[in-house]
Amino acid sequence: MSTLEKFRAISPAEFFYRNKEIAGFANPARALYQSVRELLENALDATDAHGILPDIEVSIDRDANRPMVYRITVKDNGIGIPEKYIPEAFGRVLFSSKYVLRQTRGLFGLGAKMIVLYGQITVGEPAEIISATIGSKKIYSYRISIDVKENRPIILQRSVWLNTAGWHGTIVKISVEGDWSRAKQKILDYVKRTAIVTPYTNLVFRTPDGEIYAYPRAIDRLPPPPRETKPHPHGVDIEMLKAMISETKEQTLLDFIANEFQGVGRVIATRFLQSYGFNLEKNPKELSKEELEVLAKALKDFNEFRKPRAEYLSPIGADLIKIGLSSILKPEFVDAITMKPVVYEGHAVVVEVGIAYGGAIESLEEPQLLRFANKIPLLYDEKSDVSWKVISENIDWSYYDIVFPAPIAILTHICGTKIPYKGVGKESVAEVPVIERGIEEGVRYVARSLKLYLARKQREEEYMKRAITIIKYIPEVASALAVFLRSNPEPVNPRVIEDRLFELVKKRYGEHIKEISSPRDIILSIE
Ligand code: ADP
Ligand code: MG
Repeated sequence: MSTLEKFRAISPAEFFYRNKEIAGFANPARALYQSVRELLENALDATDAHGILPDIEVSIDRDANRPMVYRITVKDNGIGIPEKYIPEAFGRVLFSSKYVLRQTRGLFGLGAKMIVLYGQITVGEPAEIISATIGSKKIYSYRISIDVKENRPIILQRSVWLNTAGWHGTIVKISVEGDWSRAKQKILDYVKRTAIVTPYTNLVFRTPDGEIYAYPRAIDRLPPPPRETKPHPHGVDIEMLKAMISETKEQTLLDFIANEFQGVGRVIATRFLQSYGFNLEKNPKELSKEELEVLAKALKDFNEFRKPRAEYLSPIGADLIKIGLSSILKPEFVDAITMKPVVYEGHAVVVEVGIAYGGAIESLEEPQLLRFANKIPLLYDEKSDVSWKVISENIDWSYYDIVFPAPIAILTHICGTKIPYKGVGKESVAEVPVIERGIEEGVRYVARSLKLYLARKQREEEYMKRAITIIKYIPEVASALAVFLRSNPEPVNPRVIEDRLFELVKKRYGEHIKEISSPRDIILSIE
C-alpha cells in the first residue's frame, strides 16, 4: 500500500471540464438551455450596454446524421470583438472584458468557454467565431478549441474577409450534445422573457423543428447604458484594498482615497483619514500590514461617505417594462415602478416591479412570476428566490381584491453591480432584507394600482348595465309619448322623441356608453 499522495494543480479549464454541472451543464437538456442562454446574454451585452439597438438571431439546427447533436448559431449586431482577443475570449476560461464594476449580464468570464468545452467533449468539433468591431475594415473568422491542460485556445483555422458592407457584430456557431425535446419549453420561455425585458430588441429564434419565434422591436428607445464606476468604500475588503493599492498611480493616501473610490471627495477623505490617525501624505504602497488592516476596517465603518450612486446602473424603466409586458403578454392592464435605489454591501441596487393582468394571460392558482436580474431571465429555483417569498408569503392578495385563480403576472427586476445570487448558476436571488423590502414595496404599489383599475372597471360595468336598462325602454316610451302628444297641432314622429330621449341618457351616462350610437344598436345587441 502506498501512503504517498500525488499532488498537482489543475487549470481553470480542467476544473470546469471536470465540474460542468457547476456552470449549468449537468445534462444534455440543461446544457442546450445554458448554451443558448450564455450566447444570447453575450449578444445583448455587446449591443444594448453600448447604445446599439439589438438585432439578434438565434437558431438551433439538428445534425442530420448524429442524434442529439445540435448546432447553435447566434448572430448579433454588437460592438464585435477585437481580433487579438477573439481566441482568448472563446478559448481561455476566466478571460473577460467584464471584470470591471459595471452592470453586465456576464460576470465570470466563463459562459462562452463552457459551451466550447462542452461541445468539444460531447461532439468533438471546434467553435466558429466570426466578428468585426465597429469601423473595422476586415471581418475575422476563427475556429477554436481549448487546450484543457493549459487553459489556452487552440486556433485551428483563421480567415480574413474584407468588410465592404461595414458590418459589425459577432456570429458564434457551436455544436453541442443536447436534448431539444426536454429543453424546448425552458428555452422558449427564456427567449420570450428576454423579449419582455428588452422590448427594444429585434429577436428571432429558429427552432430545430423549423418553427420561428419572432419578437419584433416594440420601441426604438434603449435604457441609458450602464457605466463603469469606482468601488464604494463600504464594498471593499482587505484583499481588494491591496489590489487597488498595487495598481494605483496615486502617490499619497489622500489622493488615493479621494480619487479611487466613489462617494468620497477631498474634504471627506481628509476627515476620514484624520479621524483614524493616518498621515495624509503617506504613500499608500508603504502602508504596513497593521495599517492596511486598520484602513480596510475603517473604510467599512466610517459612515460619512456619500451613498453608492445608482446613476451608473441601467434599470429597464417603468415605461419599457410596461411596453414589454403589453407587447408580449397582451394583457388588459399593466403597470410598473422603478424603486429608489438601496445599498447592498456597498453596491447600489435598483429594484423594479411590473404587473400584467387579464387579456391573454392564463388564470392560475398563483401569480405567474417573471424574475430578472441585470436583465437576465431567471427560470430555475423559483421557490428559493426572494421574489417568490414576497409574492407568496409577504403579500395578502385578497387585500387587493384578487381572488385566485386569476390572470396575473408579476415581473421583478433587480439590477446592480453586485447581485446576491444564491449560486454560480445565477438562477435565484438571496433574501437580503433591503432587496426583499424593495420588492415588497414595489409589488404593493403595482397591486394597489391593479386594485384601483379593477374597481373602476366594475363601476363602469355597473353604469353600463344601468344605461342599457334605461335605453332598452326608449322606443316604447317614445311611441307612448307620441300617442300622448297626438293632440298637438303638429304630428310628432316617435323617432324624434327616441333620439331626444337617447340624447338625455347619453348626457347622463355618456362617458360609459361611448361605443353606442343609437338605442337600436342596444336593442339589436341585446337581441
Ligand atoms: P463573460 O460574458 O462573463 O465576460 P464569456 O466567456 O461569455 O464571459 O465571454 C468572454 C468575453 O468575450 C466577453 O467578456 C466579451 O468581451 C467577449 N464576447 C463574447 N461574446 C461576445 C459577443 N457576442 N460580442 C462581443 N463580445 C463578446
Ligand atoms: Mg458571457
